[in-house]
Amino acid sequence: MKICRFDDDRLGIVQGGEVLDVTGALGAIPTQRWPLAQGDPLIANIDAVVAAADPLLKGATRKPVAAIKLLAPVPNPSKIIGAPINYADHIEESKQDPGIAHGRTNITHIGDWGLFLKANSSLIGAGEEIRLRFPDRRNDHEVELAVVVGKRANRVPKSSALDCVWGYAIGLDMTVRGRELQCFRKSIDTYSVLGPWVVSKDEVRDPDRLDLSIAVNGEMRQSSNTRYLVHNVERLIEYASSMYTLYPGDIIMTGTPAGVGPVKPGDVLTAEIESIGRFDIRVAPEYSE
Ligand code: MN
Repeated sequence: MKICRFDDDRLGIVQGGEVLDVTGALGAIPTQRWPLAQGDPLIANIDAVVAAADPLLKGATRKPVAAIKLLAPVPNPSKIIGAPINYADHIEESKQDPGIAHGRTNITHIGDWGLFLKANSSLIGAGEEIRLRFPDRRNDHEVELAVVVGKRANRVPKSSALDCVWGYAIGLDMTVRGRELQCFRKSIDTYSVLGPWVVSKDEVRDPDRLDLSIAVNGEMRQSSNTRYLVHNVERLIEYASSMYTLYPGDIIMTGTPAGVGPVKPGDVLTAEIESIGRFDIRVAPEYSE
C-alpha cells in the first residue's frame, strides 16, 4: 500500500498512476488533548485509518498522480534521524573532497560519529520546492532510503528491528557544506524531503537490496544500492533505539552513497528508489530571503 498526503491535506492511496482520495478515513484518528503524544497521529493510528479507508476505495475520487501536489506523507514525526558517513564510497569522497570535509580529519565510520537529528520544521513533500539559502556556500543533494517507524520502540535488537518499521519512502537530506554540526547545516527549512509517498513494508522485499539514484536536470549524480550501507536498516534501528525511543512516524534517513554535489536555483532533481517510486522536485528559482 502506498499512502500519500496531497493538495490541501488530503489523504490518498496510490494505485498505478492514480491517487484515490480517502480523506474521510482520517476520522479514525482520535482527537488528542494537550499535551500531544509523541509521534505522528496518522502512523500511530494507521491500522484504524486503513480499515476506515477500505470501504471508501470503491467510490473514491480519482486523480492522476501527475495532477496532485504531493506533501510530506508523515507531517508530524517526533524526530528525523540522520545517518552520517554510512556508505564506504561516500566516506572516501568525503575524505578526498575538501568541499565536503571542511577540515575534518576524523571522517572514519558511522560507529564513531553516531547519528544526528534534522529539525522537523525542515520537512517538505515532493510537490513543494526546495528553497536554498547561502548563495556563497555549497548546497548539496543527498538521496537516501527513508525508514518510517511504525510503533514505539526502545533498545531493539537487530533480530526484531524490522518489526518496528511501517514502511519506506525516498528521503533527500539536503545539506549546506561547512564546518558547523550536521544538525545545524541540514535543518534549514525545506532541506528534508520525504516522498513521493510511504510504501508499506510488505511491498519491499528487502530494504538492504534496493537501487537508489538521483539525477539533476536529467544528469545522473548518485546511483547505488542499499546493499552498500555500512550500518544496514536493522543495525540503524538498533543503533538509534539504543539512544532514543522511536515513535510511530519517526523517520530514519539511512545515509547517502557517493556522488553528492551542488544544486542551484531552478534545478530539477529526479530521485528514484526501487519498490518505492520516483519523484521530480524543483529547486526554487531564487535563493530564500
Ligand atoms: Mn545524509
